[in-house]
Amino acid sequence: MTNRTLRLDDRLYDYLLANSLRETPLMRELREVTARDDMAHMQIAPEQGQLMALLVELIGARRIIEIGTFTGYSALCMAQAMPDDGRVVCCDVSEEWTSIARRFWERAGIAARIDLRIAPALDTLDALLADGRSGEFDMAFVDADKTHYADYYERCLELLRPGGLMLFDNTLWSGRVADADAHDDDTIALRRLNELLHVDERVSLSLVPIGDGLTLALRR
Ligand code: CA
Repeated sequence: MTNRTLRLDDRLYDYLLANSLRETPLMRELREVTARDDMAHMQIAPEQGQLMALLVELIGARRIIEIGTFTGYSALCMAQAMPDDGRVVCCDVSEEWTSIARRFWERAGIAARIDLRIAPALDTLDALLADGRSGEFDMAFVDADKTHYADYYERCLELLRPGGLMLFDNTLWSGRVADADAHDDDTIALRRLNELLHVDERVSLSLVPIGDGLTLALRR
């Protein structure tokens, strides 16, 4: 028994997946297609996708923003957990990666729930704010360029309703955030975000050590 978070070895991780993962064959296929890409490490872990889907259900999210869509696995997880009139605004800059996403969203029958915007995410967020959509969103998932995380945070906080949930991916960054010898821009940006969130009274906070670290910040 332990009262601190377990370190999962392969055997225990396999057990966790075997005894809790409810991934459809299509979702598995999307992960396998993505795994052939050089950027496959950008794919979220399947158990994290399942947690995010549960969170969508838990707060009854119908309006979601995703920053960093890649090949669409996380958006698929969230969209599947929403009712038919739910919408995910997906922000990405890559036509190539999101073309894979679109194919799988179609096959999963949830393409109508996705509003894909190919543009720098800050432009899309600013356009939503300019359209008067502040306070309209239930959830935001941030999984894009780390050096802009703090900017995404401020904008998403404004776009979320009170009680809306923000999720930041990669906040443990393979452990580099705690490595005093790591001084690259991404690591510094993630450390800054973690420090900023830690003391920000506008949100309730939990850094969940799932995947590469998933921070939950609930707008108060
Ligand atoms: Ca990520």
